[in-house]
Amino acid sequence: MGVTLDLSHARPKPALTATPNLSGLTRAELADALVAADVVRPEKARMRATQLWRWIHHYGVTDFGQMTDVAKEMRASLAEAFTLDRPDIVERQVSKDGTRKWLIRTAPGIEVECVYIPDVGRAGALCVSSQVGCTLNCTFCHTGTQALVRNLTAAEIVAQVQVARDDLGEWPSPKEERRLSNIVFMGMGEPLYNLDHVAGAIDIISDDQGIAISRRRITVSTSGVVPELKALGERTQAMLAISLHATNDVLREELVPLNKKYPLAELMAGIRAFPGLSNAKRVTFEYVMLKGVNDSPAEAKALVQLLKGIPAKINLIPFNPWPGSPYECSDWGTIEAFAAILNRGGYASPIRTPRGRDILAACGQLKSESEKVRASARRKAAVAEDVPPQ
Ligand code: SAH
Ligand code: SF4
Repeated sequence: MGVTLDLSHARPKPALTATPNLSGLTRAELADALVAADVVRPEKARMRATQLWRWIHHYGVTDFGQMTDVAKEMRASLAEAFTLDRPDIVERQVSKDGTRKWLIRTAPGIEVECVYIPDVGRAGALCVSSQVGCTLNCTFCHTGTQALVRNLTAAEIVAQVQVARDDLGEWPSPKEERRLSNIVFMGMGEPLYNLDHVAGAIDIISDDQGIAISRRRITVSTSGVVPELKALGERTQAMLAISLHATNDVLREELVPLNKKYPLAELMAGIRAFPGLSNAKRVTFEYVMLKGVNDSPAEAKALVQLLKGIPAKINLIPFNPWPGSPYECSDWGTIEAFAAILNRGGYASPIRTPRGRDILAACGQLKSESEKVRASARRKAAVAEDVPPQ
C-alpha cells in the first residue's frame, strides 16, 4: 500500500523514578521547583528560570549538559535533582500522505496519541489530545466508546508538541518556515473538561521565548461545554472550534448527548458571547457528514440560518468510519452540494480532506485503533505463549 510503517521502539528507560521533570512546567512552576529543590536561591529563581526556559523550550534540549551558559556545578546539581526526559514513544507511524502519528506513554498505563498533518493551517498542524478517553459519548466518535482514564496534565500535553518537534527536527524554534505551525485540540478527549491543564499547556506552547506558536494558531475544539466557553476565551485567547454536527436539538441530542445538558439555544448564545469574537477571529464550526442523517440541503440551509450574524467558518468533515460504527459517510456529491449551499449563504466551508487514513490517524479514530491493533498483537502473543491475554 506504499505505507511507511516505522514502529520504532524507544530505548528502554530505567524504571520510573520520582525525579521531577522540568520540561512541562510553566515559568512560575519552574522557578518554584528550582527553589524547592534547593538548587537555586529564591532571589535568583526568576533569572535562572528564564535561562533554563530558553534551553528547554527554544532549543529543546533534554540534557542539562547542553546548557552551555550555565556553570558546570549548577548543571550537575540540576541533573541530580531533575530530569528533562521525553516520554517513551511506543509507536511511530508515517502515512504515505506525510501525516505522522505517535503513541506516547507519559506514565504507566497512560498512552496518548497525537498526529501531525502537513499542509493544514499555515504549514502543518499538530492534533493533540487533552484526555485519555472521554466522558462524553458522541455516537459517531470512537474515542467516545472508551471510558475516561484521566485528564492529561499540562506537561503531558506539552510533551506531545515536544515529541513532534523532535521528530520534525524543529529545534531551535524556527522563526519562519516552520513545519509545525498550528496546534489543534482535536485529539482524544474534551478539552473544556480539563481547562486548567489545557490553559497551562497553551501558556507554555505560546510563550514567545520558547515554542512560540501564536495563540491565534492554537484552536481548541469542544463539543459544547457552554459554562467554560468564556473562561476558555479569557484564559487562553485561543481560537474556538465547535463540534456542531446538527442544526436541531432532537438530532444533536442523538449525536452529541451533551446537547441534553446544553441545548443549541444556550450553545449559540455562549458562542456569540465568546471573548474576542470578530471577523479576524472567527469560530470554526465542525460538521461531520453522516449519510442520510444530517446531510440534506434543508439542513445546510438551516445551518446558514443558525449561524446568522456569527463570524464563522464551517469545516465539513467526511465521517471516518470505525468497526461497528452505526453511520456511513455521505457521498461526495452530497457533501459538495451541502458545501455549495453554505457558500451561497456566505460561509467558507472547506471539506476536510481525510488524512492519514492508512495509519488510522483520522478524526475520531485516535488511540482506540492502535489499542485494538495492540490488543490483537497481545492476544496473538498470548496464544503463542499459551498465557491468557490481559
Ligand atoms: N472533544 C472535542 C475535541 C476532540 S474531537 C470535540 O468533540 O470537539 C475532534 C473532532 O473530530 C470533533 O469535531 C469530532 O466531532 C470529530 N470526530 C469525532 N469522531 C469522528 C469521526 N469518526 N469522523 C469524523 N469526525 C469525527
Ligand atoms: Fe468526546 Fe469529542 Fe469524541 Fe464527543 S467527539 S466523544 S466530546 S472526543
